[in-house]
Amino acid sequence: MQYVSTRGGTVPASFGQAVMMGLAEDGGLLVPDRIPRFHNELPRLSRLSYPQLALELMSPFVDDVPREDLEELLERSYGPAFGEPVARLVELGAVSVLELFHGPTLAFKDVALQFLGNLFEYLLGRENQHLNVLVATSGDTGSAAIYGLRGRERINVFVMHPRGRISGLQERQMTTVLDGNVFNLAIEGSFDDCQQILKALSANLEFKRRVGLGAVNSVNWARVLAQLVYYFWAYLRSGAERIQFSVPTGNFGNILAGWYAWRMGLPIERLVLGTNDNDILARFYQTGVYARGSVRHTLAPAMDIQVASNFERYLYHRLDGDPQALRRAMDTFRAAGELRLGQADPIFRAAACDRRQILSTIRRFHEEHGYLLDPHTAVGVAAGLENALPEIPLVCVGTAHPAKFPRAIQEAIGKDLARHPRLDVLADLPTRLEVLDNDPRAVARFIEIAVGLPAGA
Ligand SMILES: *Cc1c(COP(=O)(O)O)cnc(C)c1O
Repeated sequence: MQYVSTRGGTVPASFGQAVMMGLAEDGGLLVPDRIPRFHNELPRLSRLSYPQLALELMSPFVDDVPREDLEELLERSYGPAFGEPVARLVELGAVSVLELFHGPTLAFKDVALQFLGNLFEYLLGRENQHLNVLVATSGDTGSAAIYGLRGRERINVFVMHPRGRISGLQERQMTTVLDGNVFNLAIEGSFDDCQQILKALSANLEFKRRVGLGAVNSVNWARVLAQLVYYFWAYLRSGAERIQFSVPTGNFGNILAGWYAWRMGLPIERLVLGTNDNDILARFYQTGVYARGSVRHTLAPAMDIQVASNFERYLYHRLDGDPQALRRAMDTFRAAGELRLGQADPIFRAAACDRRQILSTIRRFHEEHGYLLDPHTAVGVAAGLENALPEIPLVCVGTAHPAKFPRAIQEAIGKDLARHPRLDVLADLPTRLEVLDNDPRAVARFIEIAVGLPAGA
C-alpha cells in the first residue's frame, strides 16, 4: 500500500516514509491509496488480544515493516509496558464508555503515541537517522508525545503549548519530564498560533531537511492507524451486531479513525461527533458549511480548536479522492474562511455542548452511576445521547481520566472527587520550560541552538 498527498503534489510514499514525513511536502496530508476491507473477518478477529488485533488490522497498511517486527512493536506498545489494559468498556445504563485513558498520561492519545514512539525508534534505527519532533499541543498531545518519546536515542521532542492556556496539571505533566531530549516551549499565543508555527516550519522545506524535522501531531498517519484499532476492539467486545460511537472531537483525528474503521467494514451505524463551544465541525455536519469562528476557552480545553487539521483527510475522501477539487476547496476556505459541501453525510451526526451541558452531564452520570466523566468525554456522551438511534448500542469514546480536570469536576459535583496518584505526585516535582514569542523564527532559532546547528537564513 502506498500513501499519497491529499493535494496530489508528492510521489507515492511507503508507510515508513509517510510516518517519517508527518505532513506531506506539498502541505497536504498523507492518505492510503486504498482501504482494505475486513467485513468478512470479524469473527476471526474477535478472539484476538489487543496487540494481535492491532497487528491484523494494521498489516495491510504497512508494506515496509516485516510482520514479525510490527508484531514486536505492537507487543511492546500495548503489552505490559503500557501499564494497564489499553481499553476498557464500561456499561452505564443506556451507553457504554470506552475508557482509553489508562496509559502513562491518562489520556487516549497515549494509545497512538506509545506506538508511534516505538515505531519512530525502529524506523530511525533502521535508516541510521536522527529526528527532531515538533509538536503543537492544546494540552494532552504534548504530554502523550513526551511520554512516547522521552529518553529515546535519535529523537528530540519540542512541544509548543499556548502559554497559560492549558491546565496547571497538564502543564506539570509535561514540564516535570526532565529528560535531556525533551523541550517544553510556552508560546505567547493561542493553540491555533502554535499550529500555525508548526505548519510554517513544516512548510519550510529547507529548514525541515536541515534540522530533520518530523511531526507526531494528529496528522501523522500512524496515529490514525493506531486509533482505528480500538473501534474494532470495542465492537468485538460489545457482542453487538451493529454499533454507534460518539466521539468528543477537536482535531478530528479520533473520529476520523472511526470513519476509516467504518470504511474497513466495521458495522457502524452512526458516528456522533461532539464539540464544545468551538463548534465548527458540529456546524459543518449540521449544515454542510465549514466556516471558521474564533477560538473560545471551554471546560474541555483539548478541544478548543477551530481549524481541525485532520479534516482535510475526510474532505479528500468526500471529494472522491480528487486532489484538484481538494486544493480548490482548501483555497476557498483559506480565502473566504468558509467552505460549502452541501449534502449531508448519512453516517455522521453532530452536536455542540456548552458549559452548562458539560457540567450537567458530569453531574448526572455521577448521581446515576457513581461514575466520573471528564469534561471531554462528557461532551461525547451528551452529543451521543441526543443523536444516537435508541435501538443500537452506543459506545462513547472516553478520552481522558477525570482527575486531569479537577476544576470541572469540582464545579459539576461540588467536590474534588477525581484523583489519580500518578497526578498527585507531580505537584512536588521540579519543572523546566522556555517562554518564546509567537513567531516561527523564534522557535526555529531555539531548535537550531538546542540541536547545535548554525542559524539558518
Ligand atoms: C485530543 C483530545 C480530544 C480530541 O481528539 P481529536 O483527535 O483531536 O479530535 C478529546 N479529548 C481529549 C481528552 C483529548 O486529549
